[in-house]
Amino acid sequence: MRKTRILAGIGLAAVAALTLTACNSGTPGGDTGNGTGDADQGSEAIWEVATDVTIEGSPTFDRIQSAGKVQVGVKEDQPGLGYLDPATGERSGFDVDIARWIAASLGFDEADIEFQPIASANREQAIVNGDIDYYVGTYSITDKRKEQISFAGPYFITGQGLLVAADNDTITGIDTLTADMTVCSATGSTSIQRIRDETPAQTKEYDTYSTCVEDLKNGQVDAVTTDEAILIGYAAQDPDNLKVVGDVFSEERYGVGIAMGDTALQQFINDMFTEGGDIWQAIFEKNLGASGVTGTQPAVDPVG
Ligand code: GLU
Repeated sequence: MRKTRILAGIGLAAVAALTLTACNSGTPGGDTGNGTGDADQGSEAIWEVATDVTIEGSPTFDRIQSAGKVQVGVKEDQPGLGYLDPATGERSGFDVDIARWIAASLGFDEADIEFQPIASANREQAIVNGDIDYYVGTYSITDKRKEQISFAGPYFITGQGLLVAADNDTITGIDTLTADMTVCSATGSTSIQRIRDETPAQTKEYDTYSTCVEDLKNGQVDAVTTDEAILIGYAAQDPDNLKVVGDVFSEERYGVGIAMGDTALQQFINDMFTEGGDIWQAIFEKNLGASGVTGTQPAVDPVG
């Protein structure tokens, strides 16, 4: 495998990147996700592509090696986390860079990654089917999901929050949601389930949170709920019209979704996280540091 430095800028304000990506191409600090693997834009390297990687007993790694490509499930409408810029075709975000770092650690550079957008409701099935080798996209580790798949990590912890119209002074937290309000979230998410379980509000669901945000802007729903890290990205794109309110009301521990029982891959990714604290920090600063999302790297769960 050719040894290639994957180049990525540190210190780029993530939110600025979202709105200015069209101007970023080719500039230091611009995102690396051009899919060509030769994004030598003179910016600072965060991670390197490993060589001569072996992972004993990982069916997923065997499949990746024989395909010569890595199939990665992601989100692409979540600014700062997993985002595809429609103008430039560039992917960016904390989760996308975590996915690239994993691929690089497995010995594969940007040109070898095939990103597949997969909605919240379809993640377990995509992993069970083998459509993807791993999934990195605001994917909370839950016992229910662990009945079908395994998780490496956690690599990030956030909590559920509320996004409302900037001029809404009625909704200030989960306790202020009432039966005459409609709250929008994604199908199959922990977020929609918690609103159903813990509030009297009506719910509306879509495949994606960005559709919910459109509804919120059009006055079709009163709030959008999901992880605060996601909501901060939407608010930052349109601060005149949107705001995040209240305290978070859950703990969402993000994991890398992998095939159930692939403990060799789980251990490999966990070791990467544990040993790669500086890389984690650089990826966090690059994508979320300027956005107001807070977080420190969590310890990984035991393998198994
Ligand atoms: N982290 C939550 C979940 O995994 C909500 C965000 C999402 O749907 O990706 O369900």
